[in-house]
Amino acid sequence: MTSTSIPPAELTVLSPHDGTPVGTLPCAGADEVRDAVATARAAALDWARTSPEERGRWVRAAADALADHAEEVAGLNTRETGKLPQEALGGVMAGVGTLHQYAELGPVHRGHSLRGHALASDYTVVEPRGVVAAITPWNDPVAVAAGLLGAALVTGNTVVHKPSERCPHTGARLGEILAGVLPEGVLVTVTGGPETGQILTEQAGLDVLAHVGSTATGVAIAHAALSTGAHVIRENGGNDPLVVDDDVDPVWAAEQAAIGAFTNAGQICTSVERVYVHRAIAEPFLEALAAEARRRNADQALAPLVDRRMREAVHAHVLHALEHGATALAGGTIPEGPGSHYPATVLSGCTEDLPVMTEETFGPVAPVRIVDSFEEGLRWAAGGRYGLAATVLTGRIAHAQRAIAELPAGTVKVNNVFGGAPGGAAQPRRASGAGFGYGPELLDEMTQVKVVHVEMPPTP
Ligand code: NAD
Repeated sequence: MTSTSIPPAELTVLSPHDGTPVGTLPCAGADEVRDAVATARAAALDWARTSPEERGRWVRAAADALADHAEEVAGLNTRETGKLPQEALGGVMAGVGTLHQYAELGPVHRGHSLRGHALASDYTVVEPRGVVAAITPWNDPVAVAAGLLGAALVTGNTVVHKPSERCPHTGARLGEILAGVLPEGVLVTVTGGPETGQILTEQAGLDVLAHVGSTATGVAIAHAALSTGAHVIRENGGNDPLVVDDDVDPVWAAEQAAIGAFTNAGQICTSVERVYVHRAIAEPFLEALAAEARRRNADQALAPLVDRRMREAVHAHVLHALEHGATALAGGTIPEGPGSHYPATVLSGCTEDLPVMTEETFGPVAPVRIVDSFEEGLRWAAGGRYGLAATVLTGRIAHAQRAIAELPAGTVKVNNVFGGAPGGAAQPRRASGAGFGYGPELLDEMTQVKVVHVEMPPTP
């Protein structure tokens, strides 16, 4: 979208499980978006003057309110996006944990000081930026939104949240629950699709545009911020590689690849999107990975894709690969029946001229390329336009160190595709975004620093 489009009047969400309607919500147009920003702006001064400790208490109350409604919100998420019930509940509880974490971290978020001489000091005070627009995706909608909202609110910003059009009921309910225990106007939710999001990012009264979502949208939002001067935080798409060394157990490596590629049907920003396996163990690795994919398909263990539009995009990558020399060892066909299910798919014989290797597929697809050495795997893994995360499986410290030094990604994981402590953060690189979208560092993104220099006047 370049010029601003008019939002449709409403959004209807169909169940990814069976295609039945989940519900319909209105899309906010220009007037509603303007009102939402004005409401958040009007509440900003009082909220910024509230002490950090008190803001921490409010955010803790918001966390507790979400915990009280965890099952309900998780249920909505499952109905709208197809996320498996336990994973949806896990996402809500991760959101509760993040809000609690920010409630504690906010009051101790601090500046620095510097001594010029005995009677002169320089120090920094940390101030809220003002009004934050939080624009969030559907694939882990509660955990991701709770992080942005918690960090923005606890540091004294007010927030306009626009959840994804693929889970507007989940987003709207989250907003009601949190805003229900927060002071009037500090959190406003607007529902709608990309058009509503675009209108929001063009508002002059915003100080931060925080976007978690696709790279194309992130770039559009960065352009919009050029004319308003808003600070931009972008956590965008990835095309994460997995490099498998010749000294690891191929069956364990295949399990890691399957967890990385098939969890949430591959709809995770840091999913394994491409695999480079050493020739020496390629055969047993591929056999074990294909068997694992077939097992998951037989057990119907996979969440469906979020909708048919997503399924078409995933299948287009797979079909293109199959038409250009790849072989499907498992999956690769659209199942009959309602909903938007797609099977766990393993493709062998993949090369870098295929979009399935160079673009984010965002589906349960593991495309595999066989390499002659760990170094060759690293070289391919370092290529491409994204820089979100990467994983290597190796027993050799020297190989792990090379991967850590050479992979141009915000996160490098050694021997666990989804390792990482809660509260962790990373700086995505290249087309994967800019700035910290998580962890204590997000408090820095949500604030600005004022330097104060104080010294004595000359004695008369
Ligand atoms: P998306 O960018 O299409 O949508 C995300 C949000 O942006 C939605 O609320 C949407 O309505 C809004 N939006 C869309 N176009 C807009 C515009 N022109 N102006 C303003 N707002 C606009 O992304 P998605 O499909 O919902 O999410 C999937 C993507 O998100 C994947 O690429 C995934 O990798 C990425 N993601 C990244 C992270 C991360 O931390 N890096 C986390 C989760 C998801």
